[in-house]
Amino acid sequence: MSFFRKIKIWVVDHWIVVSVVGGVLLCIGLTWWGMSQLESFYRTMTLATMPMTMLMWLVSSVISAFVYVSIMFGYFSRMDKKQVKSSSVNVRFDDVLGIDESKDEAREVVALLKDRTRLKNVGGKILRGILMQGPPGCGKTFLAKAIATEAGIPFLSLAASDFVQVFVGVGASRIRKVFKDAQRQAYASGACIIFIDELDAIGRARTYSSMGGQETDQTLNALLVEMDGLQGRQESIVVIGATNAPEGVLDAALLRPGRFDRKIYVDRPNLKGREQVFGYYLKKVQYDPSLDIPRLARRAVGKTPAEIENIVKEAALIATRQGRDKVIFSDLSEAFERVDLGIKHRRSMTDTEKKMTAYHETGHLMATYFLHPTDDVFKASIIGRRGTLGVVWKVPREELHSHTKVHLLANIKVSLAGYAAERMVFNTSTSGVSADFENAMAIAHNMVWQLGMGKKYIGDWEMVANSANGSLNISESARTELNEETNQILQECLKEVEELLTKERPLMDRFVLELLRKEELEYDEIEAIFRDAGKARGMLPGF
Ligand code: ZN
Repeated sequence: MSFFRKIKIWVVDHWIVVSVVGGVLLCIGLTWWGMSQLESFYRTMTLATMPMTMLMWLVSSVISAFVYVSIMFGYFSRMDKKQVKSSSVNVRFDDVLGIDESKDEAREVVALLKDRTRLKNVGGKILRGILMQGPPGCGKTFLAKAIATEAGIPFLSLAASDFVQVFVGVGASRIRKVFKDAQRQAYASGACIIFIDELDAIGRARTYSSMGGQETDQTLNALLVEMDGLQGRQESIVVIGATNAPEGVLDAALLRPGRFDRKIYVDRPNLKGREQVFGYYLKKVQYDPSLDIPRLARRAVGKTPAEIENIVKEAALIATRQGRDKVIFSDLSEAFERVDLGIKHRRSMTDTEKKMTAYHETGHLMATYFLHPTDDVFKASIIGRRGTLGVVWKVPREELHSHTKVHLLANIKVSLAGYAAERMVFNTSTSGVSADFENAMAIAHNMVWQLGMGKKYIGDWEMVANSANGSLNISESARTELNEETNQILQECLKEVEELLTKERPLMDRFVLELLRKEELEYDEIEAIFRDAGKARGMLPGF
């Protein structure tokens, strides 16, 4: 009994095997029976055609398996996209905007490429690899294309992320193929550029983990081998890698001499650069000729060319939606906010809430105007947006890369001013101050704990406290004192702001009235009110 049960269970478990074997046996049996029924002539004929039939069957099954695998792993779509394209790129240096310093370096590269024969004769260093570094959207790809166009050589481009494959070895073989392609192109035109975007996708410092690291390692190794192989060649192939990853992320082997040993930093454009970019994109849309492009550029501190393009397009959209055929300043102003903060939604606020918001924002506005050494107020608004009830838009007068104590203190004062204004007028405060406090406290904490701007302690105490055995290195009393100093900075800043707002109370009330009436005040309107009150602090020359 149990024997039959065992068989039954085995059959249930292996029903696929059982049915396949059964089916095959049945086929063979039927064939056998059929053949024995035939006359000998037909039997011979059937046997003679059998090898051919089986061969055909084999070929067709191989083909269908190949098609299946291709579709599964998307080879066809990749072939269509032609990730390696020797496109006739036609980008001139004049088309590359806003990154003049990077452009100068690129010009040098072009000169080197053009003079390669002369350079070779003198025995000078020949370019192999250039690394373009910088934030996304600043025009690295564009610049690489411009180098190719200006030097008059073919341009192959590929994205490194496409090379990270499911199958080990596929990425490496693709790298080899690209270099072979480049050699052919270089043979025809004397030189060729291979542009590898997102180089960090394969060029990350090699990891020896068992999970997933292997494929990128193989790809990276293939790239290194190919680049080293360029050394002895007649034709010059230059590899340009682009990355927005910070230094140190890339494998050190990539940066060795003979590989990516020349760097071009492609940074966000400066004021002049942004002016050019605005001018360029505005030319593509219809705009009001009275538009103040330098002011737009000022307001777009820290924006990349891609973001500026986005702002201009958004502004054109807003103008169209409002039935205008020209972009005016307020469209751009609106577009700035949309890009940075999202679309505004008018919430219904009670009158008191509105008034409190107006005072809160006016506090920020006045503190910025009177106490901040570098920031200008561009706009104040009491229309709600993504989580905020109002906003004061301030922009530094020039791009600052480090901050002084005065500057940091001013930032704290500006942050606390909303709270100060609320408390002064209503003798209470709202929950709207929490983000401001967070900001102010973070700055004050940094000043004391990290930047040596406190009174008693200097040094990076944050680092000490965060070290593995922090409790051993920093005493409880030091901690308390550091926190006390932090609080003291906040208190002193608050006091200064309160004094200012008390002194300028009439002006504050006036701003609140204007805000409640118009909901939004632009730069000109704000400046006019200050001027009217005899408090104008002057503008930057040419602005
Ligand atoms: Zn605030």
